Amino acid sequence: MAPGNDKHGSTKLSLTAKVLIGMVLGLIVGIVFNSIDNSFINEHIVGGLFAMVGKMFINALKMLVVPLVTFSLICGVTGIGDIRMLGRVGGKAFGLYLLTTAVAIAVAILLATIIGPGSGFDMTGIDTSGINAKEAPTVWDVFANIVPTNPINAFANAEMLQIIFYVILIGIATLMLGEKSKSFVQACEYMNELMMKVVEIVMAFAPYGVFCLIAKTFSEQGIDLFLPVIAYVVTLVSALLLHLFVTLMIFLKLLSGLNPLTFLKKIRPAQIFAFSTASSNATIPVTFQCTTERMGVNNSVASFTVPFGATINMDGTAIMQGVATVFLANVYGISLGLGGYLTVIGMAVLASIGTAGVPGVGLVMLTMVLGQVGLPIEGIAIVLGVDRLMDMIRTSVNVTGDAVVSAIVANSEGKLDMAVFEDPEAGTMTGDDLEISHEAELELAEAARPKPDA
Ligand code: ASP
Repeated sequence: MAPGNDKHGSTKLSLTAKVLIGMVLGLIVGIVFNSIDNSFINEHIVGGLFAMVGKMFINALKMLVVPLVTFSLICGVTGIGDIRMLGRVGGKAFGLYLLTTAVAIAVAILLATIIGPGSGFDMTGIDTSGINAKEAPTVWDVFANIVPTNPINAFANAEMLQIIFYVILIGIATLMLGEKSKSFVQACEYMNELMMKVVEIVMAFAPYGVFCLIAKTFSEQGIDLFLPVIAYVVTLVSALLLHLFVTLMIFLKLLSGLNPLTFLKKIRPAQIFAFSTASSNATIPVTFQCTTERMGVNNSVASFTVPFGATINMDGTAIMQGVATVFLANVYGISLGLGGYLTVIGMAVLASIGTAGVPGVGLVMLTMVLGQVGLPIEGIAIVLGVDRLMDMIRTSVNVTGDAVVSAIVANSEGKLDMAVFEDPEAGTMTGDDLEISHEAELELAEAARPKPDA
């Protein structure tokens, strides 16, 4: 995060640095407000101002997702120009997403079995009312629902898998129409560029949005929630960090040869946004910007792998399910055996395909997993209190997994620009890019002026 020099010679902080500062300040303010516990602060500052700004920021990010994915994916498909490559990219991404998730949860279960959190846990005082199990969708339902009955519904409800399916079809049809599609493709390219500009505008507010989101969460989350389940939290965070810094980086190094340290620097903004919003879906615009502009992944790959990953790839969520299952099995003194754990792995991988990356969805998936292996669903009440913070950390792991697979697939297809990957300044925003030049204003005004009839 090197500070950049602006044209007047003064030092400017990069946007990532500003967002990081917003996050740290939010953390400090949140912890202070939590210890003060004043009703005016709780009601008007935390529940009012922070909640409002935070919500506006998340809404703005979500507002970008559907148009950004649509136009970049159309450009991606038409830009590939070779349908076979599209199939290869899809196949590789899907296989790697499943593989990384399965490895993530298997390692998590192993680690949790070694640490053994939950034995001797005292259940008294835990309110288990209101916890209901969700039915797990069958794998057939999951695949059948990828085809939308009404694309407008799919777009309106931000159903990412349905949108991806539909837009790829449109992209293929566009290619088939050849020359006739020229102006449509140009319009989509323009819209894609336009959306990336809108992303930059929204990002300029990120430091404030992130500050408010983090300050709100930490004002509301007291340390007292963590103490009873500290063994669970420590095991889970260790498993998440192990996956983030070791397993995923081994995958990256072995399958692409890319430098993990450079990768970790480039993905940092997406991790911060994922942490602040606890939503892989809302983070799509940032993950997309990090993979394309900071890492050099070509749009033809990232436009597909990033939204696809945000929807089906949830390594961190799977890890949480693995650790929570072992923890609850210990709490209730139930032995799951190898068959039980294999079921957990299969269920967690499948459940992550069918559920969108939004806050708290991991807990819903956990009810499916627990039901399947015969553990009491009420156990969720034990981990509920700490789930928001765990959600923030696991979402950062989820988006890192999406970016790792995007980089591996792009590299294997010769669609990764090494010059961009190795340039430390690539894709660094300072906010200067948002200035509207006087020449551009004049040009537009000239274009809009009514022309006298010739
Ligand atoms: N919040 C996570 C995500 O968006 C999903 C979860 O684990 O709840 O990726």
